[in-house]
Order: sequence, then C-alpha cells, then structure tokens
Amino acid sequence: MNKQLLVPPYRIKMVEPIRLIDREERIKRLEEAGYNPFKLKSEDVFIDLLTDSGTGAMSHYQWGALMQGDEAYAGSRSFFRLEKTVKEITGYNYVMPAHQGRGAEQVVIPELVKHPGMVFISNIHFDTTRAHVEIAGARAVDTVIKECYDLDTYHPFKGNFDLELLENKIKEFKPDNVAAITMTLTNNSAGGQPVSLENMRAVRKIANHYGITVMIDGARYAENAYFIKQREKGYQDVPIRQIAREQFDQADIFLMSAKKDGLVNIGGLIVIKSDEELFQRCQIRIVPMEGFPTYGGLAGRDMEALAVGLEEALEEDYLEYRINEVKYLGDKLREAGIPVQYPIGGHAVFVDCGAMCPHIPFDKFPAQAVVNQLYIESGVRAVEIGSLLLGRDPDTKKNLKADKEFMRLTIPRRTYTLQHLDYVASAIKQVYSIRDKICGLSFAYEPPILRHFNAKFIPDRQGEHDCNE
Ligand SMILES: *Cc1c(COP(=O)(O)O)cnc(C)c1O
Repeated sequence: MNKQLLVPPYRIKMVEPIRLIDREERIKRLEEAGYNPFKLKSEDVFIDLLTDSGTGAMSHYQWGALMQGDEAYAGSRSFFRLEKTVKEITGYNYVMPAHQGRGAEQVVIPELVKHPGMVFISNIHFDTTRAHVEIAGARAVDTVIKECYDLDTYHPFKGNFDLELLENKIKEFKPDNVAAITMTLTNNSAGGQPVSLENMRAVRKIANHYGITVMIDGARYAENAYFIKQREKGYQDVPIRQIAREQFDQADIFLMSAKKDGLVNIGGLIVIKSDEELFQRCQIRIVPMEGFPTYGGLAGRDMEALAVGLEEALEEDYLEYRINEVKYLGDKLREAGIPVQYPIGGHAVFVDCGAMCPHIPFDKFPAQAVVNQLYIESGVRAVEIGSLLLGRDPDTKKNLKADKEFMRLTIPRRTYTLQHLDYVASAIKQVYSIRDKICGLSFAYEPPILRHFNAKFIPDRQGEHDCNE
C-alpha cells in the first residue's frame, strides 16, 4: 500500500467532546470578546487552530509514564530519565529542564551577552527569543534568504540563512560582538519553513572561522529533520534520528520549547554540548528563574511524559502524517484559488489576507477581520500574524505595516482528524466567497504593549454591508 496515504499511525482511545454553538451565539460571543478571538472562551470554539504550542495530544505511553513521576525536588529519577533521552538524541553533555521555551531563553541568553553592544544573528528570531535578546541588552538581527518572502515560488528550504548576508553582518558588527548565531528550526516566524543541513553546515563553518557560538532554537527540530529527509539530496535513506543528530552536530547549544516537538502540553529544555563553564553559570541562574536545575519548573511527571514524547516525535510514521496533514489543508485551499504561502510549512497554513481583502487597509487589520469572519461562519479559531501583531513604531507611534497580512491556521499535533480539516477548508472557502463584504476593524481599546492579546475592536461598516450579516 502507498505510504503517502493520509492514515494516522494511531487510533483514538479517549475523546474530548467539542461543540459548535449556533451562529447567533457566535456573533454574540465575538462581540463580547471585543472582536478579538484571543478573548473567546475555548469552549465557544469548535476547532481551535490558534496555536500548535502545548495543544497536542499525548500518547497512552506518555499518560502511563506520568504515573511514574518522581516528585523529588533534587535529583529525581524522572530527571535522570529525561537527561538520558536528551543526551542520546542530541549527543550533548549537559541537560536542564525549563518550564517552557521562554524559560530556557531567560536563563541562557543573558549568559551569552558578555558586554554592551552585542548582537544575536538568526535566520529569523522567534518573538520571545527576540524579546529575551533585547531584555539582555543585545540586538537581534535576521539574515534569512530573500526567497523566504516570496510566497508563490517553490523553494525547498525557505528557512535557510543568506550566508553572504550572515558573513557581512558578522563583519559589520565585528565577531567579538556576536553573542551567538541562532538557527531557528523550523523557521517559526516565516511559516515553519525548514533549514537544510547543507545550509547549517555552512553556517557552522562561518561560525568556526570567526569563533562564534552556534545555538539551535529547535522547537520543531524533528519536523525540520523530516523535511531534510524529503527534500535534501542524499538524505532519503538516512534515519530521522541520524538527521536530527547531524543537525545538533552543527551547534553548541540547543534550546527547546517542548510544547511543540516534545509532544507535551508544557515544558522546555536547555541542552549544552560541551561548555561546562556555561552550564555551571546557567545552573546558578536557573534557580531563581525556573527552579532547581534538576526540575526547572517541571513536575517529575512532566519530565517523564517529555522523555517519551521526544522519542515519539522522531518516529517517521508520526512525522509523515503530521507534515502531510498540514499540507492536506494547504493543498485544499490552494486548489480553491485561495492565496496561501507555498510550499506549506510544517505546523501551519498561512492565508494571505492582504491579497484576499485588498479593500481593507493594513491599519484596519485585514487578517484579523478574516479571522473574525471565519469564527462567525464556522466556529473555527485562527490567529492574525500581520500588522496588528507587529504593533506601532516606538518613536513615531505610527502603526507599522507588516510585510504580509496573514491568517495562520495552526494544526495541533495528533488532535484533529481530516474531517475536521475538511470542515476548516469548507469554512475558509465560504469566507473567501464573501471576501469583498468583509470590513476592517477600528480599536475600541488598544493596550500599549503586546496589543494583539487584549485589544478590543469595533467593526467598520462598509457601504451598505453590516459586517455581522
Ligand atoms: C514556541 C517557541 C519558542 C518559545 O517557547 P514557549 O514554550 O512558547 O515559551 C521559542 N522559539 C521558537 C522557535 C518557538 O516556536
């Protein structure tokens, strides 16, 4: 039989009922939420595609492992089990858990900033990574290839570093001022696009030449390894675990949000290859931040579930279905002529709402308007990745214009079936068919920072149309 068939390599053993409230009620709930889906109750959401972070389903092996949690403050059996698994996967020597990815960042990033005026260079920094770089008094510089910003043309590794730009930036800031080169795997902020091993090797070579530390921000490192196996020459017959190891061979530090490819609902990791002195400094810093170094904000049971989840996320059947179900949704939308980022990334489908609703100006937030309409039509919750998220210029206070106005449909791991995704595709087609009737949004309340989480809006009326009809 054809292995490309979309058949999940698991069966369902426990269910969580979901309910589609009727349209009248959805309109009311969205109004109460100030037209901001972040403020909806999840029980008023039918299919929740807000994020793939911590929203996946655990296996029965993970639920079984929970029962074996050793809840000792220091030196628990669960820690040593996790440590052993992480060492085996990465080949690194030093492991510390953290409560989630940003917990790992707040411990490690300040330790890499040795003096004022330092920079971190990434393909693209993830939001919280960028925030921790800036909190530590450094600057975050992105050097992704320009093909990344072209939504229509196929490129197998749109997450790659632009090597020439990387080297120019190192020279511009001077090697001594580069705190680290951060490889974001997959490149979350640009649609979960992968980075090739060839590119990672070249980055490593440049880093070696200038004596710079390399860090992997690898929330989705297993998905990245699967793309390498699919797309990079010479890797078709290489086991995923070996590809993962080759990725880790190109770096010195690995930070992970385990809420993604750890297949757990909460957790993070700090892993250091060989720098014992850095590890010792992190062991001191982690105590007031996350907790004692052998639990780092996690319960023993969480570490047990993570040790199992890390193994499961490297299983090829799992990855094949995972990547293909995301592609399944993306392909359905593409076939319907809906503008989506291509090729489809590892964890989400990005709909180009600027192209879909050119009549809505960027500062009336076209993607947020489409997200709202999708909720009204179907009870599906997506999320805006565009000018609303970007915020205002800190100096001029003017709204910044995002490069693209995206609606992100993020697929939780092992959670929804293809029937759910069919429903989502139909709902988006329905929204697309009335796209010219969708109206922009004005602020009723705009928080001064991180406005997208708590903002409230009033929908504009356009011509004779009422947005709620
Ligand atoms: C999610 C994520 C983080 C932050 O992790 P949290 O667990 O959400 O704190 C950091 N980097 C990348 C690439 C991520 O995807």
